[in-house]
Amino acid sequence: GTVLVGGGSGFVGTHLTKALSSKNYGVKIVSRMPGPRNVSWHEIGARGLPENTVAVVNLAGQNVMDFKRRWTAGFKQNVFSSRINTTASLAKAINNSLKKPKVYISMSGVGAYKPDPEAEYTECSNIRQFDFFSKLVIEWEKAAALDSAAKNQCRVVTIRSGVVLGRDGGMIKQLYLPFILGLGGPVGNGAQFMPWIHIADLVDLIIFCIENNQVEGVLNGVAPQVCSNKQFSNAFAKTLNRPAFIPVPSFVFNLLLGAERAKMITEGQKVIPQRTQELGFKFRFPTVQSACENIVKGA
Ligand code: NDP
Repeated sequence: GTVLVGGGSGFVGTHLTKALSSKNYGVKIVSRMPGPRNVSWHEIGARGLPENTVAVVNLAGQNVMDFKRRWTAGFKQNVFSSRINTTASLAKAINNSLKKPKVYISMSGVGAYKPDPEAEYTECSNIRQFDFFSKLVIEWEKAAALDSAAKNQCRVVTIRSGVVLGRDGGMIKQLYLPFILGLGGPVGNGAQFMPWIHIADLVDLIIFCIENNQVEGVLNGVAPQVCSNKQFSNAFAKTLNRPAFIPVPSFVFNLLLGAERAKMITEGQKVIPQRTQELGFKFRFPTVQSACENIVKGA
C-alpha cells in the first residue's frame, strides 16, 4: 500500500520515506512543491487521498528555529497555520475517504509540558495552555482528530517528539560547526532538560505505529535516557574530541530568537516515553552518548 506523508520532503520526512521505500511501501509526499512523487495540498483538498493509501503521516511545519526569520506576529502565524491547517486537511481527507487508511500519525511536540526542574511528564500527564508553544501543540493535536465514523476505522496516533538528533538536519546541523571549532557549550547553566530522540528511532517509531494495530493515542517520542542540555553538550563535544566549556548565556538566544521562541532551548521538560515503551517499542539509541557516537562516526 501507499503511505501519504505531509511534509515528507523535510528532515524527518527524507529519512522516513527512504525507510518506507526500502520496506516496499509506496510513498506519496504532500508538498508545496511539484515533484515525481508529490501531490499538492490543493489536490488533497479537491480529490482526497490517493488510491490505496494505507497510512497517513503529517510532518509538515514551518521550521521554528530558522535564525534568519524574526519572531514576528506574521512568522508566528505561519508556524501555527503550517501545522494546524495541514493536519486538519489530512484529517478531513480521511473523514471523506470511502476506504479509510488504517492509521493517521500526526507529529506534535513536547511543548505542552511545562518546563519544571522537578516534574516528570508521561503521556498521561494533564496538559494545558500556558504559552505560545503549549497553545500550538494543543491546537495541533486537536486538528488531527477524526470524526466519529472515521475513528472506528482509522487509528489516530500523536507523537510528541523531542529534539530530533541526526547529522543532516535539525539542531545538530546547526551545532556542528561551532562544536567542531571547539566553541560548543551548554546553553545558560545547562541544567535544563533536553528531551531528544535519534532520527533513526523516530523513523522506526513511526513505522512501528503504522504496523502495530494496537497502537493509538499519544506517544512521547523521546529517548528513555533523560538528559540535561549540559549532558548533551558534553556528550556531543566528547564524541567530536572537542571541549565544551564555552557556555552560551541565555540572553544571547533571547536576543537572537526572541525570548518567547528562545524558551525552546533555554528551558526544557523531563519527558518519559512511558506508553511508547509499554507498547513494546525498542529504542536503538537509548542514551545520548550512543546517539552522538552514531551521528558523528556513523557507527
Ligand atoms: P522540516 O523543517 O524539515 O519541515 C518539514 C516540511 O514542512 C518541509 O519539508 C516543507 O515541505 C513543509 N513546510 C515548511 N514550511 C511550511 C509551510 N509554511 N506550509 C506548509 N508546509 C511547510 O521539519 P522536520 O522534518 O525537522 O520536522 C517534522 C515535523 O516534526 C515538524 O512538524 C516539526 O514541527 C516536528 N518536530 C520536529 C522536531 C525536530 O527537532 N526536527 C522536534 C519536534 C517536532 P515542502 O517544502 O515540501 O512543502
